Amino acid sequence: MSFDYDLFVIGGGSGGVRAARVAAGETGAKVALAEEDRYGGTCVIRGCVPKKLMVFASEYAGMVEDAQAYGWDIQPGAFDWDVFRGKLYKELDRLEGVYRNILKNNGVETFDTRARLVDAHTVELSDGIRKSAKHILIATGGRPVKPEIKGAELGITSNEIFHLEKLPERMLIVGGGYIACEFAGIMNGMGVEVTQYYRGAQILRGFDDEARGLVSEEMCQNGIKLHLGTNVLEMEREGDRIRVKATNGDEELFDQVMFATGRVPNADDLGLEGLGVELGRKGQIVVDEYSQTAVPSIYAIGDVTDRVNLTPVAIREGMAFVDTVFRGKPTPVDHALIPTAIFTQPEMGTVGLSEEEAAAQEPVEIYATSFKPMQTAFAGRSQRVLMKLIVSKANRRVLGCHIVAPGAGEMIQLVGIAVKMGATKEDFDRTVAVHPVMAEELVTLRQPVRSA
Ligand SMILES: Cc1cc2nc3c(=O)[nH]c(=O)nc-3n(C[C@H](O)[C@H](O)[C@H](O)COP(=O)(O)OP(=O)(O)OC[C@H]3O[C@@H](n4cnc5c(N)ncnc54)[C@H](O)[C@@H]3O)c2cc1C
Repeated sequence: MSFDYDLFVIGGGSGGVRAARVAAGETGAKVALAEEDRYGGTCVIRGCVPKKLMVFASEYAGMVEDAQAYGWDIQPGAFDWDVFRGKLYKELDRLEGVYRNILKNNGVETFDTRARLVDAHTVELSDGIRKSAKHILIATGGRPVKPEIKGAELGITSNEIFHLEKLPERMLIVGGGYIACEFAGIMNGMGVEVTQYYRGAQILRGFDDEARGLVSEEMCQNGIKLHLGTNVLEMEREGDRIRVKATNGDEELFDQVMFATGRVPNADDLGLEGLGVELGRKGQIVVDEYSQTAVPSIYAIGDVTDRVNLTPVAIREGMAFVDTVFRGKPTPVDHALIPTAIFTQPEMGTVGLSEEEAAAQEPVEIYATSFKPMQTAFAGRSQRVLMKLIVSKANRRVLGCHIVAPGAGEMIQLVGIAVKMGATKEDFDRTVAVHPVMAEELVTLRQPVRSA
């Protein structure tokens, strides 16, 4: 049977672009890709990249204050959102161009349109044109959803936050996950008065309790009004503002409300019904360890499969798919011990098990220290950092590492290598410290603070 292509990829985000360009450029496969919006997907256009640039922008006010404390004769001026947003848009245009060129230069044929499946080997583009392929890869990502409450349409999501006409004076952020917490810090740093509601008992559910506790304390210290155990009851327009009634009885006016209350996989309206592709409880595409669906010619990678929703994971899954299908090297995706960073202020870096998860699995020793780092302590700040190792009592392996500190993301990338290699506490101990840096504490933790 002959097909138009060896591979048709739906979705030009992190996972889809990587799989398409490697399959075409390195294995010689005939590849096409359809993207309905902007090339680069969530990460590049409305996720990691613009967010991190906003984190950088938001940190300068504090840096200027610290510089004053170090003797610099400078004054913090006002933050100009228009200037920043203009530069941000230009950067995103540039990056989108890079992604388009990568595909073009590797011989991938692109269609700037929505695509859906018609059968196990056929894709229909929005103008009715049909293309056949030996393999179809679904890499359609996910999207934010708003809760079903009265007035929710008045709020925005992370998709819209990059396009605000002007910065609000008062903003409510709803949610306690990493996206909500990161934007609370960003907006606060940009001079917005930020209130955050989270219905749970503590933000950053699923991460180490001690680490998220410190992030939460520091966010409050930085001026974010964090209300735990609180949710939005209903919202209504009042002039230019939004009146929000909360479950704790509060009633307040905000200029903007952002919901960061969850994301769903883009698996609906793909024509999957009746094809035999299984969908999970959240609507995600169910795949095996090779990212293959129940239909042998159809694979899925990235957020649409709702495994670990991070850019480097989508990319890994894309590479493993190409190895498996186009290089004859069946490659399961390794989802164990993925280091990750939360770009809150302070930043958090984490790899492996939390204290709570590890203690539920086996007896462990906890090594931890919390202190005021030199740089900000000198500037008179009370900010604390945390360095924490979770160690197996049985084999002394470091099962988890949690860092709350400026630059924690950079640090955890490197700790991740040691933990992935199976380093023991004694391997950490016999590594000579770098002095004076915050991370030296990770190799000088002598006594456990507790057993769990
Ligand atoms: C605010 C925010 C911050 C984030 N920060 C980080 C971070 O710091 N670090 C990190 O690792 N991850 C971060 N992420 C997560 C990361 O962006 C995703 O995990 C990653 O983009 C997933 O890649 P993907 O290829 O699965 O999907 P996506 O990048 O979402 O790409 C999917 C693409 O498919 C297109 N598409 C969808 N349906 C169709 C269709 N039917 N036809 C054609 N095209 C279609 C979409 O337009 C999109 O371009 C963040 C996410 C958000 C929302």
